[in-house]
Amino acid sequence: MKLLKIKHYNIKTMATKYKVDKDKCIACGVCISTCPEGLDWDEDGKSKVINSEEVEKGGGETLCPYEAIVKVEVEE
Ligand code: SF4
Repeated sequence: MKLLKIKHYNIKTMATKYKVDKDKCIACGVCISTCPEGLDWDEDGKSKVINSEEVEKGGGETLCPYEAIVKVEVEE
């Protein structure tokens, strides 16, 4: 009888997410008005991403005229 040796690999997948660069955000609210499904006000008075898929659909980084919305790759 022949035994099969099975190797286990840690396969990591990457996902595209968005985040708000708080240093660049001036709290103008444009992104929240344009894409309320993807962004909301944070406790610090600036915006925050609440749903990256909706931000992607809404235009991603282009939602912010101040380049405060940035795309990041994260491991899932
Ligand atoms: S549009 Fe940009 S600067 Fe304005 S609230 Fe959104 S992230 Fe902040």
